[in-house]
Amino acid sequence: YKRIVLASRPHGEVTPDNFRLEEQPMPQLQEGQLLVRNHFLSLDPYMRGRMEETKSYAAPQPLNETMIGGTVGEVIESRHPKFAVGDKVQGMFGWSEIGVSDGALLRKLDTSRIPLSAYLGAVGMPGMTAWYGLTQIMKPKAGETIVVSAASGAVGSVVGQLAKERGCRAVGIAGGAEKCRYVVEELGFDACVDYKAGNLQDDLAKATPDGIDAVFENVGGGGFDACLARMNPFGRIALCGLIAGYNGEPMALHNVRAFLTMRLTLQGFIVSEHMDLWPQGLQELGGLVASGKLKFRESVAQGLESAPDAFMGLLKGRNFGKQLVKLV
Ligand code: NDP
Repeated sequence: YKRIVLASRPHGEVTPDNFRLEEQPMPQLQEGQLLVRNHFLSLDPYMRGRMEETKSYAAPQPLNETMIGGTVGEVIESRHPKFAVGDKVQGMFGWSEIGVSDGALLRKLDTSRIPLSAYLGAVGMPGMTAWYGLTQIMKPKAGETIVVSAASGAVGSVVGQLAKERGCRAVGIAGGAEKCRYVVEELGFDACVDYKAGNLQDDLAKATPDGIDAVFENVGGGGFDACLARMNPFGRIALCGLIAGYNGEPMALHNVRAFLTMRLTLQGFIVSEHMDLWPQGLQELGGLVASGKLKFRESVAQGLESAPDAFMGLLKGRNFGKQLVKLV
């Protein structure tokens, strides 16, 4: 079977030679183990951080080992009492066509009402990230205005829809007219500002006539700065990601004074540190996806070989919705 390992660490932008495709012999199962054929691999921005050796919230990805990553797939062989051939499961098997497990950290999935791939998106880690930041940090009340950046993406798309469910005015920031149209027309946001159109501050002001009460920040840089200038007193900011700086780009903020004058609260968070809340969040997200109320979109790259290019695209906004790699 095929897998992709981290061959070298990037300096600045990720390049194809940071990865290496390898052939591996099929593993022989021990008693208590099971074998999974991965159907989808999730590509996520956090992987960029793991490729580096700098101090962060998690240890770096070791060189010459399978790239880390969430997967969903099907049990194809089992010597484990609790898993049978044909079971659909979610695991962390990484950039690999095959995974071996002792069952720990493996979740059985019900695909009767929720598509398998959604467990890597709206009903998985990205959805849970949106749910956590919105309900635990932004805590918006009906009638308030919230803004979310990378609004068409896996996390951002869920943030805005959950905010609409709670009676808020939801405003997105996204790159390009097509993504913005999708955010308003398909996802039901009240407005979406195209930061590439060149009038970010004016467009954001028009989209937030009553100011901003809470921000879900995914990007950093100019969009975040423009939001600070529009914050209402006692506004809340859930700092989820800073993707505009993941290659080491400097990020200046001019409107820092708003923290003082508007008495703002900013809270960074890492969703995997709040596993106690996942059952509650995933139940709400699963119900909304099963009933068709929560919409999502996927960019699907074909075959493990396409993973490095799709990942580099994700870090440049080439994806449109949750970035996946289809392996089967
Ligand atoms: P997305 O599906 O939103 O894809 C990434 C998007 O980011 C791109 O489509 C693009 O959207 C935007 N983007 C990429 N590069 C740049 C850039 N240089 N400048 C501005 N925008 C850029 O990814 P996710 O939904 O998976 O992740 C969104 C954010 O959430 C990331 O910052 C990620 O690190 C963070 N995150 C944090 C977690 C936590 O626990 N704190 C957990 C999960 C995710 P556009 O074309 O609109 O610019």
